[in-house]
Amino acid sequence: EAREAYVARNPASLAAHVEAAASLPGGNTRTVLFHGPFPLLMARGKGCRLWDADGHGYVDLLGEYTAGLYGHSHPVIRAALDRALDRGWNMGGHGAMEARLARLVCARFPSVELVRFTNSGTEANLMAIATAVAATGRRKVMVFDGAYHGGVLYFGGGGSTVNVPHDWVVAPYNDAAGAAALIEEHAEDLACVLVEPMLGSGGCIPAEPTFLQALRDAADRAGAVLVFDEVMTSRMSAGGQQARLGIAPDMTTLGKYIGGGMSFGAFGGKRALMELYDPRRPDALPHAGTFNNNVLTMHAGVAGLEEVFTAEAADRLFNRGEALRARLDAAAAERGAPVRWTGLGSLMAPHFVRGPVRRPADVADDDPRLRELLFLDMLGRGFYLAKRGMVALSLEVGAAERDGFAAAFADWLDARGRLLA
Ligand code: PMP
Repeated sequence: EAREAYVARNPASLAAHVEAAASLPGGNTRTVLFHGPFPLLMARGKGCRLWDADGHGYVDLLGEYTAGLYGHSHPVIRAALDRALDRGWNMGGHGAMEARLARLVCARFPSVELVRFTNSGTEANLMAIATAVAATGRRKVMVFDGAYHGGVLYFGGGGSTVNVPHDWVVAPYNDAAGAAALIEEHAEDLACVLVEPMLGSGGCIPAEPTFLQALRDAADRAGAVLVFDEVMTSRMSAGGQQARLGIAPDMTTLGKYIGGGMSFGAFGGKRALMELYDPRRPDALPHAGTFNNNVLTMHAGVAGLEEVFTAEAADRLFNRGEALRARLDAAAAERGAPVRWTGLGSLMAPHFVRGPVRRPADVADDDPRLRELLFLDMLGRGFYLAKRGMVALSLEVGAAERDGFAAAFADWLDARGRLLA
Protein backbone atom coordinates (compact mmCIF):
# COMPACT_ATOMS: atom_id res chain seq x y z
CA GLU A 1 0.00 0.00 0.00
CA ALA A 2 2.92 2.35 0.75
CA ARG A 3 4.43 1.30 -2.57
CA GLU A 4 1.20 1.92 -4.47
CA ALA A 5 0.94 5.41 -3.03
CA TYR A 6 4.54 6.03 -4.02
CA VAL A 7 3.98 4.93 -7.63
CA ALA A 8 0.89 7.10 -7.93
CA ARG A 9 2.70 10.15 -6.54
CA ASN A 10 5.79 9.96 -8.75
CA PRO A 11 4.97 9.58 -12.48
CA ALA A 12 7.87 11.76 -13.68
CA SER A 13 10.39 9.77 -11.62
CA LEU A 14 8.95 6.54 -12.99
CA ALA A 15 9.25 7.77 -16.58
CA ALA A 16 12.84 8.86 -15.97
CA HIS A 17 13.66 5.49 -14.44
CA VAL A 18 12.27 3.60 -17.44
CA GLU A 19 14.24 5.79 -19.83
CA ALA A 20 17.47 5.49 -17.81
CA ALA A 21 17.18 1.71 -17.73
CA ALA A 22 17.75 1.69 -21.51
CA SER A 23 21.41 2.58 -21.00
CA LEU A 24 22.19 2.11 -17.31
CA PRO A 25 21.69 -1.30 -15.68
CA GLY A 26 18.44 -0.94 -13.75
CA GLY A 27 18.62 2.76 -14.57
CA ASN A 28 21.35 3.03 -11.98
CA THR A 29 25.03 3.94 -11.74
CA ARG A 30 25.23 4.01 -7.96
CA THR A 31 23.78 0.94 -6.32
CA VAL A 32 23.03 2.52 -2.96
CA LEU A 33 20.52 4.88 -4.58
CA PHE A 34 18.32 2.15 -5.98
CA HIS A 35 15.20 1.20 -4.10
CA GLY A 36 11.93 -0.37 -5.08
CA PRO A 37 9.72 0.27 -6.90
CA PHE A 38 11.97 2.92 -8.51
CA PRO A 39 14.01 5.78 -7.07
CA LEU A 40 13.15 9.46 -7.21
CA LEU A 41 14.64 11.73 -9.83
CA MET A 42 15.94 14.75 -7.95
CA ALA A 43 15.53 18.03 -9.77
CA ARG A 44 16.80 20.76 -7.46
CA GLY A 45 18.24 21.47 -4.03
CA LYS A 46 18.52 24.58 -1.89
CA GLY A 47 19.72 24.78 1.70
CA CYS A 48 18.29 21.74 3.47
CA ARG A 49 15.57 21.18 0.87
CA LEU A 50 15.24 18.99 -2.22
CA TRP A 51 12.62 18.89 -4.94
CA ASP A 52 11.96 15.87 -7.13
CA ALA A 53 10.92 15.74 -10.76
CA ASP A 54 7.26 15.62 -9.79
CA GLY A 55 7.61 18.81 -7.79
CA HIS A 56 7.45 17.36 -4.26
CA GLY A 57 9.62 19.12 -1.72
CA TYR A 58 11.57 17.26 0.96
CA VAL A 59 13.69 18.12 3.95
CA ASP A 60 16.96 16.48 2.97
CA LEU A 61 18.01 14.32 5.90
CA LEU A 62 20.21 12.06 3.79
CA GLY A 63 22.76 14.79 3.23
CA GLU A 64 24.36 12.92 0.30
CA TYR A 65 25.48 10.13 2.64
CA THR A 66 27.46 12.74 4.63
CA ALA A 67 29.18 14.42 1.65
CA GLY A 68 26.42 17.03 1.68
CA LEU A 69 27.51 18.57 4.97
CA TYR A 70 27.17 22.09 3.58
CA GLY A 71 23.64 21.59 2.28
CA HIS A 72 22.62 22.55 -1.24
CA SER A 73 24.16 25.47 -3.13
CA HIS A 74 25.84 26.96 -0.06
CA PRO A 75 26.84 30.50 -1.03
CA VAL A 76 30.42 30.10 0.24
CA ILE A 77 30.97 26.88 -1.69
CA ARG A 78 29.30 28.34 -4.73
CA ALA A 79 31.53 31.41 -4.67
CA ALA A 80 34.60 29.17 -4.42
CA LEU A 81 33.43 27.13 -7.42
CA ASP A 82 32.78 30.31 -9.38
CA ARG A 83 36.32 31.49 -8.65
CA ALA A 84 37.67 28.16 -9.85
CA LEU A 85 35.57 28.19 -13.02
CA ASP A 86 36.69 31.71 -13.85
CA ARG A 87 40.30 30.52 -14.04
CA GLY A 88 39.93 27.22 -15.85
CA TRP A 89 39.81 23.69 -14.58
CA ASN A 90 41.92 21.29 -16.64
CA MET A 91 45.33 22.84 -16.47
CA GLY A 92 47.40 19.71 -16.07
CA GLY A 93 49.53 21.38 -13.43
CA HIS A 94 49.62 22.15 -9.76
CA GLY A 95 47.10 24.66 -8.48
CA ALA A 96 47.25 27.00 -5.52
CA MET A 97 44.53 25.29 -3.54
CA GLU A 98 45.88 21.74 -3.21
CA ALA A 99 48.68 22.59 -0.78
CA ARG A 100 46.29 24.84 1.11
CA LEU A 101 43.72 22.06 1.47
CA ALA A 102 46.48 19.66 2.52
CA ARG A 103 47.66 22.13 5.16
CA LEU A 104 44.13 22.45 6.52
CA VAL A 105 43.70 18.68 6.70
CA CYS A 106 47.05 18.13 8.42
CA ALA A 107 46.30 20.91 10.93
CA ARG A 108 42.95 19.36 11.81
CA PHE A 109 44.19 15.79 12.05
CA PRO A 110 47.53 15.87 13.90
CA SER A 111 48.10 12.17 13.17
CA VAL A 112 48.09 13.09 9.48
CA GLU A 113 51.56 14.53 8.98
CA LEU A 114 51.42 14.24 5.21
CA VAL A 115 48.42 13.64 2.99
CA ARG A 116 47.59 12.77 -0.61
CA PHE A 117 44.27 13.30 -2.36
CA THR A 118 42.19 10.85 -4.34
CA ASN A 119 38.76 11.05 -5.96
CA SER A 120 36.84 8.89 -3.55
CA GLY A 121 36.92 7.29 -0.16
CA THR A 122 37.20 3.92 -1.88
CA GLU A 123 40.44 4.90 -3.57
CA ALA A 124 41.73 6.39 -0.34
CA ASN A 125 41.25 3.06 1.41
CA LEU A 126 42.79 1.10 -1.47
CA MET A 127 45.82 3.39 -1.24
CA ALA A 128 46.08 3.12 2.54
CA ILE A 129 46.12 -0.66 2.25
CA ALA A 130 48.71 -0.50 -0.53
CA THR A 131 50.85 1.79 1.59
CA ALA A 132 50.76 -0.57 4.55
CA VAL A 133 51.54 -3.60 2.37
CA ALA A 134 54.49 -1.77 0.79
CA ALA A 135 55.81 -0.41 4.08
CA THR A 136 55.62 -3.66 6.03
CA GLY A 137 56.33 -6.18 3.26
CA ARG A 138 53.40 -8.19 4.69
CA ARG A 139 50.28 -9.43 2.92
CA LYS A 140 47.39 -9.73 5.38
CA VAL A 141 44.80 -7.03 5.87
CA MET A 142 42.46 -7.02 8.86
CA VAL A 143 38.98 -5.59 8.47
CA PHE A 144 35.78 -6.04 10.51
CA ASP A 145 32.42 -7.68 10.03
CA GLY A 146 29.84 -5.14 8.90
CA ALA A 147 32.48 -2.76 7.54
CA TYR A 148 32.13 -0.68 4.40
CA HIS A 149 35.28 0.90 3.00
CA GLY A 150 34.07 1.26 -0.59
CA GLY A 151 32.25 -0.62 -3.32
CA VAL A 152 35.09 -3.12 -3.66
CA LEU A 153 35.83 -3.18 0.07
CA TYR A 154 32.57 -4.37 1.63
CA PHE A 155 32.38 -6.80 4.54
CA GLY A 156 28.73 -6.87 5.51
CA GLY A 157 26.91 -10.20 5.35
CA GLY A 158 30.01 -12.25 4.56
CA GLY A 159 31.64 -9.90 2.05
CA SER A 160 31.13 -9.25 -1.64
CA THR A 161 32.11 -11.01 -4.85
CA VAL A 162 33.47 -7.78 -6.35
CA ASN A 163 35.87 -7.13 -3.47
CA VAL A 164 39.48 -6.54 -4.44
CA PRO A 165 41.59 -9.65 -3.85
CA HIS A 166 43.56 -9.18 -0.67
CA ASP A 167 44.57 -11.60 2.00
CA TRP A 168 41.67 -10.52 4.26
CA VAL A 169 41.29 -11.37 7.91
CA VAL A 170 37.75 -10.46 9.00
CA ALA A 171 37.60 -9.75 12.74
CA PRO A 172 34.64 -9.16 15.08
CA TYR A 173 33.65 -5.50 15.49
CA ASN A 174 33.56 -4.10 19.02
CA ASP A 175 35.13 -7.25 20.42
CA ALA A 176 38.37 -5.97 21.89
CA ALA A 177 39.66 -9.29 23.16
CA GLY A 178 38.66 -11.23 20.05
CA ALA A 179 40.22 -8.74 17.67
CA ALA A 180 43.40 -8.40 19.72
CA ALA A 181 43.79 -12.18 19.76
CA LEU A 182 43.41 -12.33 15.97
CA ILE A 183 45.98 -9.57 15.52
CA GLU A 184 48.40 -11.51 17.67
CA GLU A 185 47.67 -14.74 15.80
CA HIS A 186 48.47 -13.09 12.43
CA ALA A 187 51.12 -10.72 13.78
CA GLU A 188 53.93 -11.84 11.48
CA ASP A 189 51.95 -11.42 8.26
CA LEU A 190 49.69 -8.54 9.19
CA ALA A 191 50.23 -5.36 7.16
CA CYS A 192 47.39 -3.31 8.58
CA VAL A 193 44.22 -3.11 10.58
CA LEU A 194 41.57 -1.04 8.80
CA VAL A 195 38.66 0.08 10.95
CA GLU A 196 35.77 2.55 10.93
CA PRO A 197 35.49 4.42 14.24
CA MET A 198 31.76 3.96 13.68
CA LEU A 199 30.29 1.37 11.31
CA GLY A 200 28.59 3.74 8.89
CA SER A 201 26.90 1.71 6.20
CA GLY A 202 26.87 -1.12 8.77
CA GLY A 203 24.22 0.76 10.73
CA CYS A 204 25.82 3.73 12.53
CA ILE A 205 27.22 1.50 15.28
CA PRO A 206 29.95 3.41 17.14
CA ALA A 207 33.18 1.70 18.08
CA GLU A 208 33.67 1.52 21.81
CA PRO A 209 36.75 3.48 22.88
CA THR A 210 38.19 0.41 24.62
CA PHE A 211 37.88 -1.53 21.34
CA LEU A 212 39.81 1.06 19.33
CA GLN A 213 42.41 1.38 22.08
CA ALA A 214 42.85 -2.40 22.08
CA LEU A 215 43.41 -2.27 18.31
CA ARG A 216 45.95 0.52 18.80
CA ASP A 217 47.87 -1.51 21.38
CA ALA A 218 47.69 -4.81 19.50
CA ALA A 219 48.72 -3.21 16.19
CA ASP A 220 51.72 -1.65 17.92
CA ARG A 221 52.75 -5.01 19.35
CA ALA A 222 52.34 -6.67 15.94
CA GLY A 223 54.10 -3.91 14.02
CA ALA A 224 50.98 -3.49 11.86
CA VAL A 225 49.73 -0.19 10.49
CA LEU A 226 46.52 0.99 12.17
CA VAL A 227 44.25 2.78 9.69
CA PHE A 228 41.12 4.68 10.76
CA ASP A 229 38.61 5.04 7.96
CA GLU A 230 37.17 8.42 8.91
CA VAL A 231 35.43 8.91 5.57
CA MET A 232 32.16 9.22 7.48
CA THR A 233 33.26 10.04 11.01
CA SER A 234 35.56 12.94 10.15
CA ARG A 235 32.62 15.27 10.80
CA MET A 236 32.38 14.33 14.50
CA SER A 237 34.71 17.19 15.36
CA ALA A 238 37.15 19.35 13.42
CA GLY A 239 39.67 16.54 13.91
CA GLY A 240 37.25 13.69 13.44
CA GLN A 241 36.41 10.90 15.85
CA GLN A 242 40.09 10.27 16.60
CA ALA A 243 40.27 13.72 18.22
CA ARG A 244 37.18 13.01 20.33
CA LEU A 245 38.65 9.72 21.52
CA GLY A 246 42.27 10.80 21.82
CA ILE A 247 43.47 7.76 19.87
CA ALA A 248 45.92 8.39 17.04
CA PRO A 249 46.03 5.92 14.14
CA ASP A 250 49.10 5.53 11.91
CA MET A 251 47.03 6.39 8.86
CA THR A 252 43.66 7.99 8.25
CA THR A 253 41.40 7.89 5.22
CA LEU A 254 39.00 10.72 4.47
CA GLY A 255 36.34 11.58 1.93
CA LYS A 256 32.87 13.06 1.68
CA TYR A 257 32.41 16.65 2.91
CA ILE A 258 36.10 17.58 3.04
CA GLY A 259 35.99 18.25 -0.70
CA GLY A 260 33.17 20.73 -0.17
CA GLY A 261 30.70 18.33 -1.76
CA MET A 262 32.79 17.64 -4.89
CA SER A 263 34.42 14.23 -5.55
CA PHE A 264 36.98 13.69 -2.84
CA GLY A 265 39.13 11.27 -0.94
CA ALA A 266 42.39 11.45 0.96
CA PHE A 267 44.83 9.16 2.68
CA GLY A 268 47.50 10.35 5.03
CA GLY A 269 49.37 9.64 8.21
CA LYS A 270 52.82 9.21 9.58
CA ARG A 271 55.54 11.02 7.71
CA ALA A 272 57.64 7.87 7.34
CA LEU A 273 54.75 6.08 5.61
CA MET A 274 53.64 8.92 3.38
CA GLU A 275 57.17 9.80 2.35
CA LEU A 276 57.15 6.56 0.37
CA TYR A 277 55.24 8.59 -2.23
CA ASP A 278 57.77 11.45 -2.40
CA PRO A 279 58.55 11.50 -6.13
CA ARG A 280 62.01 12.86 -5.42
CA ARG A 281 62.93 9.42 -4.10
CA PRO A 282 64.38 7.07 -6.67
CA ASP A 283 62.27 4.21 -5.23
CA ALA A 284 59.10 6.28 -4.78
CA LEU A 285 55.77 4.46 -4.84
CA PRO A 286 53.52 5.72 -7.64
CA HIS A 287 50.22 7.34 -6.93
CA ALA A 288 48.80 9.01 -10.00
CA GLY A 289 45.24 10.09 -10.75
CA THR A 290 44.15 12.67 -13.27
CA PHE A 291 41.67 14.25 -10.90
CA ASN A 292 43.56 13.97 -7.60
CA ASN A 293 44.02 17.74 -7.49
CA ASN A 294 40.94 18.66 -9.47
CA VAL A 295 40.40 22.35 -9.24
CA LEU A 296 36.73 22.34 -8.24
CA THR A 297 37.28 20.01 -5.31
CA MET A 298 40.33 21.87 -4.07
CA HIS A 299 38.60 25.25 -4.15
CA ALA A 300 35.37 24.01 -2.59
CA GLY A 301 37.23 22.05 0.08
CA VAL A 302 39.34 24.99 1.19
CA ALA A 303 36.38 27.37 1.34
CA GLY A 304 34.28 24.92 3.34
CA LEU A 305 36.93 24.25 5.97
CA GLU A 306 38.16 27.83 6.25
CA GLU A 307 34.85 29.65 6.18
CA VAL A 308 32.04 27.29 7.19
CA PHE A 309 32.93 24.09 9.04
CA THR A 310 34.92 25.62 11.87
CA ALA A 311 35.67 23.66 15.03
CA GLU A 312 32.74 25.41 16.73
CA ALA A 313 30.41 24.56 13.86
CA ALA A 314 31.52 20.93 14.09
CA ASP A 315 30.78 20.77 17.80
CA ARG A 316 27.41 22.46 17.37
CA LEU A 317 26.43 19.99 14.67
CA PHE A 318 27.54 17.06 16.83
CA ASN A 319 25.38 18.25 19.71
CA ARG A 320 22.35 18.84 17.49
CA GLY A 321 22.59 15.28 16.27
CA GLU A 322 22.93 13.83 19.75
CA ALA A 323 19.83 15.73 20.85
CA LEU A 324 17.82 14.58 17.84
CA ARG A 325 18.81 10.94 18.27
CA ALA A 326 17.81 11.08 21.95
CA ARG A 327 14.37 12.41 20.96
CA LEU A 328 13.84 9.71 18.32
CA ASP A 329 14.86 7.03 20.77
CA ALA A 330 12.63 8.49 23.47
CA ALA A 331 9.65 8.52 21.09
CA ALA A 332 10.13 4.80 20.50
CA ALA A 333 10.73 4.02 24.18
CA GLU A 334 7.60 5.93 25.31
CA ARG A 335 5.51 3.78 23.00
CA GLY A 336 7.30 0.56 23.77
CA ALA A 337 8.07 0.32 20.04
CA PRO A 338 10.86 -2.05 18.97
CA VAL A 339 13.06 0.64 17.38
CA ARG A 340 16.53 1.72 18.43
CA TRP A 341 18.42 4.66 16.95
CA THR A 342 22.17 4.28 17.09
CA GLY A 343 24.88 6.65 15.93
CA LEU A 344 27.14 9.48 16.86
CA GLY A 345 26.52 13.19 16.55
CA SER A 346 24.91 14.10 13.25
CA LEU A 347 24.78 10.51 11.91
CA MET A 348 22.14 8.05 13.06
CA ALA A 349 20.24 4.99 11.91
CA PRO A 350 17.18 3.09 13.11
CA HIS A 351 17.14 -0.59 13.94
CA PHE A 352 13.97 -2.58 14.39
CA VAL A 353 15.15 -4.51 17.41
CA ARG A 354 14.42 -4.36 21.13
CA GLY A 355 17.80 -5.06 22.65
CA PRO A 356 20.97 -2.97 22.82
CA VAL A 357 22.97 -2.59 19.60
CA ARG A 358 26.72 -3.00 19.96
CA ARG A 359 27.65 -5.28 17.09
CA PRO A 360 26.38 -6.13 13.61
CA ALA A 361 25.02 -9.44 14.98
CA ASP A 362 22.67 -7.48 17.24
CA VAL A 363 20.80 -6.17 14.19
CA ALA A 364 21.05 -9.24 11.99
CA ASP A 365 17.33 -9.99 12.46
CA ASP A 366 16.31 -6.45 11.63
CA ASP A 367 13.35 -6.58 9.19
CA PRO A 368 14.30 -4.84 5.92
CA ARG A 369 10.61 -4.37 5.07
CA LEU A 370 10.13 -2.13 8.11
CA ARG A 371 13.12 -0.11 7.03
CA GLU A 372 11.63 0.33 3.56
CA LEU A 373 8.27 1.22 5.07
CA LEU A 374 9.85 3.92 7.23
CA PHE A 375 11.68 5.28 4.20
CA LEU A 376 8.61 5.40 1.94
CA ASP A 377 6.31 6.74 4.67
CA MET A 378 8.80 9.50 5.49
CA LEU A 379 8.93 10.50 1.83
CA GLY A 380 5.17 10.83 2.02
CA ARG A 381 5.63 13.10 5.04
CA GLY A 382 8.22 15.23 3.27
CA PHE A 383 11.49 13.86 4.68
CA TYR A 384 14.19 12.29 2.52
CA LEU A 385 16.27 9.68 4.39
CA ALA A 386 18.68 7.04 3.18
CA LYS A 387 16.69 4.03 2.07
CA ARG A 388 18.20 2.15 4.99
CA GLY A 389 16.84 4.86 7.29
CA MET A 390 20.12 6.61 8.00
CA VAL A 391 20.02 10.32 8.77
CA ALA A 392 23.05 12.53 8.08
CA LEU A 393 22.28 16.06 9.23
CA SER A 394 23.75 18.83 7.15
CA LEU A 395 24.66 22.19 8.63
CA GLU A 396 21.55 23.58 6.94
CA VAL A 397 18.99 21.39 8.74
CA GLY A 398 17.49 23.82 11.24
CA ALA A 399 15.67 23.42 14.54
CA ALA A 400 12.26 23.58 12.84
CA GLU A 401 13.18 20.71 10.50
CA ARG A 402 14.58 18.63 13.35
CA ASP A 403 11.43 19.24 15.40
CA GLY A 404 9.35 18.37 12.37
CA PHE A 405 11.17 15.10 11.83
CA ALA A 406 10.95 14.09 15.49
CA ALA A 407 7.20 14.75 15.36
CA ALA A 408 6.82 12.90 12.06
CA PHE A 409 8.65 9.88 13.46
CA ALA A 410 6.46 9.83 16.59
CA ASP A 411 3.39 10.10 14.38
CA TRP A 412 4.69 7.26 12.20
CA LEU A 413 5.16 5.04 15.26
CA ASP A 414 1.52 5.67 16.16
CA ALA A 415 0.28 5.11 12.61
CA ARG A 416 2.28 1.92 12.05
CA GLY A 417 2.24 0.60 15.59
CA ARG A 418 0.33 -2.50 14.56
CA LEU A 419 3.02 -3.55 12.06
CA LEU A 420 5.82 -2.89 14.53
CA ALA A 421 4.28 -4.81 17.41
N1 PMP B 1 34.52 4.41 3.84
C1 PMP B 1 33.38 4.68 4.48
C2 PMP B 1 33.34 4.55 5.96
C3 PMP B 1 32.26 5.09 3.76
O1 PMP B 1 31.11 5.35 4.41
C4 PMP B 1 32.35 5.23 2.36
C5 PMP B 1 31.20 5.70 1.51
N2 PMP B 1 29.94 5.64 2.02
C6 PMP B 1 33.56 4.93 1.75
C7 PMP B 1 34.62 4.54 2.52
C8 PMP B 1 33.73 5.03 0.27
O2 PMP B 1 33.75 6.35 -0.15
P1 PMP B 1 33.38 6.70 -1.67
O3 PMP B 1 31.91 6.43 -1.82
O4 PMP B 1 33.73 8.15 -1.78
O5 PMP B 1 34.22 5.85 -2.53
